[in-house]
Parts: sequence; C-alpha cells; structure tokens
Amino acid sequence: MTAAISPTPSAKVHARPMLEINKLGKSFGTTEVLTSIDLSVRPGELVFVIGPSGSGKSTMLRCCNRLEEPSSGTILLDGEHVTACQGRALDKMRLKIGMVFQGFHLYPHKSVLANVMLAQVKALKRSKADAKTRAIEMLEHVGLAHKAESMPSELSGGQQQRVAIARALALDPKVMLFDEPTSALDPELVGSVLKVMKQLREEGMTMLVVSHEMEFAREAADRVVFMDGGVVVESGPPEEIFGNPQSPRLQSFLSRVN
Ligand code: ADP
Ligand code: MG
Repeated sequence: MTAAISPTPSAKVHARPMLEINKLGKSFGTTEVLTSIDLSVRPGELVFVIGPSGSGKSTMLRCCNRLEEPSSGTILLDGEHVTACQGRALDKMRLKIGMVFQGFHLYPHKSVLANVMLAQVKALKRSKADAKTRAIEMLEHVGLAHKAESMPSELSGGQQQRVAIARALALDPKVMLFDEPTSALDPELVGSVLKVMKQLREEGMTMLVVSHEMEFAREAADRVVFMDGGVVVESGPPEEIFGNPQSPRLQSFLSRVN
C-alpha cells in the first residue's frame, strides 16, 4: 500500500449513496436512448453495468459527468447536484468524477509522468512539486513508477490504461467511472488492468464499471445492473444476476455472451 486512495473506505450498507442517478432520461433529437434510469452507488461499492451494445451504458456514464447533457432527471455526487452545476462549479464537480475510457486518451508527446501531472497542475492548481509527488504515488499504485519517464507509445495497451487510471486517481475523485476499460486490450493484457481495479475496490474506492468481463463481475462486483434499450431491466448481486436471471431479456443476453 502506498498513499490512500479513498477518503471513505466506510461501511457500504446504509450509507448515503456516493453517486445517485434519479430518473435519468436522455434523447438525441427525437430518439430516446435512456428512459428513467435509477441507479445508485454507495461509498466503496463496485457496481457493474452490463447490457447489449447500444443499450445506453456509455451515454449513462457520460451523463454522470455531463459529457452528455441529461434530458431529464438528476444526478447527485455525495449529495451534491451534478445536474445543477454550471460553469466553474461544473468544472470543479467534474474533477471529482474520475473517468476511464476504452481508449486511453493519453497525450502522445508527453511522458507518462507529465500525463499524470497535467490536470493536477492545470485544473487543481497544484504546484508542480506536489503534482509530481502525487503522480509518482499513483504510478506506484498501478505498478508503473518505473515507467514515469517513458512515452505512452513505449508502453503496452494495458500499461497505458493503468497510466490513465493513475491520472484519474491523482485528482482524488470521489467516484471512478470505467467505460469498457479492457475492451481495446489484447487478452493477455486485460488481467493487469482488472487487478488494479480489484485493488482499488479493496481500498474502498467507489466505482461504476461498464464492462463485458463477466468473470470479473462475478468476483469483484457488489451489484450488477443489466441495461437494455435504455432502461435498467434487472439488478442485484452477481450471484443472482448470473445464477438466477429473472427477465427473458437478461437470460437471452447471458446465453449470447457466455
Ligand atoms: P452502449 O454504450 O450501451 O453501447 P451507447 O450509450 O453508446 O450504448 O448508445 C446508446 C444509443 O444512443 C445508441 O443507439 C447510439 O447510437 C445512440 N447515441 C449515442 N451517442 C449518440 C449521439 N451523440 N448522437 C446520436 N445518437 C447517439
Ligand atoms: Mg458503450
């Protein structure tokens, strides 16, 4: 263990949700892609979202930090309204919501260290010295301190994704959102990223994860949410969702992916 990742590795049950999505709706033009999504993630919980392509998983995650503007509903982070924020308040709010995408989006012409320092200096206004200290701590956390001076192109996809995770963590987010973090990786590199995610969970980070890694969900998820056609069809503990799916849509989805 190096530096603390989460300020609240507290009891998961009965706590106020860290992230609360209430009746979230989203339309693109006349096409409704999310219909009244309710989903909450308590402090330290890992909630896993599964569902067919096009079911609205990415749109839901993107609404959480307003990369997409919700059409209706509210989103609260640790009791604060994300959906009511504008301007600088929104910028500040976004920093508390770490996001990791399928593509790693590292700056190709900056070193690993500089990638992890950049937003800390620009957005959090940390001194370079503090940002560097924090960056190295977070790179140690994902097992890549020895790559600090490398360029992203010198790393494997799995390593690049772990840098992207370190970069998000360095901003001290209250919640981490992952959108198919391992989908772009060669199979042999997937494990290293999942291992980091599992470690974060053990340290009490609150996480909402969209992924097709069902084995990982079985092992690491506190709850699994199945989305289809822009609605939450079913949710529950992994053993129920995978072992005893209720809805025909979930049964059919699982039979296709397994
Ligand atoms: P998933 O992540 O579950 O595959 P998405 O959230 O990416 O699903 O997409 C849900 C639906 O919304 C899809 O039908 C997709 O085509 C549509 N969609 C997503 N983004 C946009 C956009 N910017 N403009 C129009 N339609 C979009
Ligand atoms: Mg998606």
